[in-house]
Amino acid sequence: MKREILLNPGPVTLSDRVRAALQRSDLCHREKEFASLSLEILEMIGKIYPQAKDFRPVLLTGSGTAAVEAMLQSFASASKKTLIVANGVYGERMATMLTKQGKPFELIKGEWTEGLNLKAAEAALAASPGAYSAVATVHHETTTGRLNDISPLAALAEKFSVPVLVDAVSSFAAEDLDFKNVLAVAATGNKCVHAIPAISFVLARTDVLEAGKSEARSLYLDLFEYYKAQKTGFSPFTQSVQGIYALHEALREFFDLGGQKARLKTYRDRRDSVLDTLAAAGVKTLIDRSAFSSYLTSFLLPEGRDYDALHDTLKAEGYTIYAGQGNFSGKIFRIAVMGDIRTDEMNKLLQLLKDFFK
Ligand SMILES: *Cc1c(COP(=O)(O)O)cnc(C)c1O
Repeated sequence: MKREILLNPGPVTLSDRVRAALQRSDLCHREKEFASLSLEILEMIGKIYPQAKDFRPVLLTGSGTAAVEAMLQSFASASKKTLIVANGVYGERMATMLTKQGKPFELIKGEWTEGLNLKAAEAALAASPGAYSAVATVHHETTTGRLNDISPLAALAEKFSVPVLVDAVSSFAAEDLDFKNVLAVAATGNKCVHAIPAISFVLARTDVLEAGKSEARSLYLDLFEYYKAQKTGFSPFTQSVQGIYALHEALREFFDLGGQKARLKTYRDRRDSVLDTLAAAGVKTLIDRSAFSSYLTSFLLPEGRDYDALHDTLKAEGYTIYAGQGNFSGKIFRIAVMGDIRTDEMNKLLQLLKDFFK
């Protein structure tokens, strides 16, 4: 099979062992073999960040958006406001979700090229103390590739006795993650974990899950229902069985390769080679180089250069890059170096980029 190298921010190029896992025997999700696989997955996810010992993952079938929406469904209050601190598409999308859920919120709509607006967050929290039940934000804002620093926002929120809900869909398992004053973290199997798009999950504080007070206005996205069923390894609904196979194998491979710190280093090395190559070719980054996450970078299309031409040239060689979203459409391109990419494949990519921008 010809390898397609996905340089979009999820889904990723699968390793051979994850792909092989998709071929395992058919299995009913009510059988004990399914339950033991799920329990092993929960155990492994729980070990990715040893500091998250007061948290439990809850698995559901759906893409990363399902995890973010389930997190807001289950934990965002229906009576008190959630303060969303956004600086891109994914932060703003949480406001759309809460609108559809009929829950109160306030959106701090930050500049997409800037960091989180802590001043505005502080002003909102201080203006009406007691009005908010949570702060919601995005760890890695995939719109630009910026890694948001969650810790200062969480510390600020703590001063007002408000916990934080984090969309860590595009950072979980690779970036360092601070769980202090965090209530829940939404994540997925098909980004930094290197499984297929199928199973996503939310890590939430165990005491909150045990207390069982759900804010959900949805049956499918109520994490408390999953949490109860999952204690014995099951799910209230049919899970993606092949997704479970892939996630199980991807997690085993993740630990075989050295876990989160090792993944972070692999990504950074690849990312730096892309940044250095494009800098040498005179291509400018959208945001400061130091603001990028470990694997996703965004670049301004040089004058007279067309996104489609770049995309199609690389696609013909087996590499899929990613366009800009929203206001950035047609102005930028993005390169994500997640997934199973081999050294020779990275080297060929760098050569292709050099040739294109010559
Ligand atoms: C990818 C992503 C999501 C979820 O997207 P899906 O297309 O549903 O997988 C949510 N938040 C962020 C920050 C993401 O990068």
